[in-house]
Amino acid sequence: MSQSESIAALIICCIDYRFVTQLRTFTQEQNLIDKYDLLAFPGASKNIHQLFDAIEISIKLHKPKKIIIMDHEDCGAFGENNTFLDHKKSLERAIKLIKIGFPKIFVELYYITFSAVKRI
Ligand SMILES: [Zn+2]
Repeated sequence: MSQSESIAALIICCIDYRFVTQLRTFTQEQNLIDKYDLLAFPGASKNIHQLFDAIEISIKLHKPKKIIIMDHEDCGAFGENNTFLDHKKSLERAIKLIKIGFPKIFVELYYITFSAVKRI
């Protein structure tokens, strides 16, 4: 793939080792292998504002067709506020912030539990 082509996605996820296998399975099922940039940062959606420089570089270099933000169950970065609803709110806030910074890009939200990956 040359630099001028466009990759399928930029995936933004947490660093947590417990969900690496599920992320790999997800990327296989979504036909994303070798077609995505990966940004791993504690809390994923919670700290999206800290990732804007990195998102900008991915978009500039690889033109991802969409951004996928993946939060997960029992995230240490979320501390006590770790319910599904807390994550849903955080993901929805993240999508708003991304739309301000990068209005043209399509964004998908996901929540990973220990047994499944579900789209929000
Ligand atoms: Zn986490």
